[in-house]
Amino acid sequence: MGKFVIANRFEINDLEKDLLGRGGMGIVYRATDRESGEAVAVKTLDSAVLSTEPNVLERFRREGEALRQLDHPNIVKYIAAIESYGQHYLVMEYVEGGSLQDVLAAQGRLPSQRVVEIGLHLADALERAHQLGIIYRDLKPANVLLARDGTPRLSDFGIAHLADKAHLTQSGVLIGTMNYLSPEAFGRETLDARTDIWAFGVLLFEMLTGRLPFPDKNITAKITAILTQPTPDLTQYNSDVPAALADLIYRMLEKDRSQRIASARLVKDELEMILHLL
Ligand code: ADP
Repeated sequence: MGKFVIANRFEINDLEKDLLGRGGMGIVYRATDRESGEAVAVKTLDSAVLSTEPNVLERFRREGEALRQLDHPNIVKYIAAIESYGQHYLVMEYVEGGSLQDVLAAQGRLPSQRVVEIGLHLADALERAHQLGIIYRDLKPANVLLARDGTPRLSDFGIAHLADKAHLTQSGVLIGTMNYLSPEAFGRETLDARTDIWAFGVLLFEMLTGRLPFPDKNITAKITAILTQPTPDLTQYNSDVPAALADLIYRMLEKDRSQRIASARLVKDELEMILHLL
């Protein structure tokens, strides 16, 4: 298939070969920015999704807006948002190393030091988002992309919410991945940054052990476990995890958010100290 050029600037060389993947809202292609000569990723809204789910356009625009505000080395860089001939495009930094999900699928789990290093970068990215009043709401391995140097980039701000508007709607529940949802996300409370701290705790647990803290396949059992069951002892799955790191993760996974470690900043400070112990 042929070349495709958007706004006379972003060039997709081959619509088949340069397809990076399909997400909930759209299709992501690799392209070249004619201005800089650099590789970029272009997300385009899938017209089939748009016709069945009209509010997807708002989510797509919100993702562009969130990315534009966020300027952080561990968050995919915003390059442009374009509307052309009725199509919507979001152009971002191209991150070439695949996702953390691919890495976990291939390696099972990661050494503590690598987990803490990735965790420090993610804590920094979340701290920035939270400072701007943006709750990420969708932290999971598929949304953590890895750059060539191994550092992570948070991507996919499609369901990120401005804090003051953060009600988890019915569709929000369906959009978010159940495995990483905080206990309060099942209730009626307004979500805040602490919901991201929970998901971050699940992610750290998974990176260290290769398994989820609440792995039930049955949805009702899973929700019950998230709401009521204690976090399993993670050192039973990986005895190399330092006690201070396990303890931090338990505090990130406090079911009552008023008991939970309160900010990405505090998580970052503790990870920093733990890194020196390793
Ligand atoms: P989803 O909705 O499945 O979370 P996205 O729509 O964000 O995912 O992305 C779809 C696919 O494109 C994923 O496989 C993702 O790894 C890839 N992708 C998304 N953004 C980028 C990027 N900036 N650089 C490289 N690959 C990307």
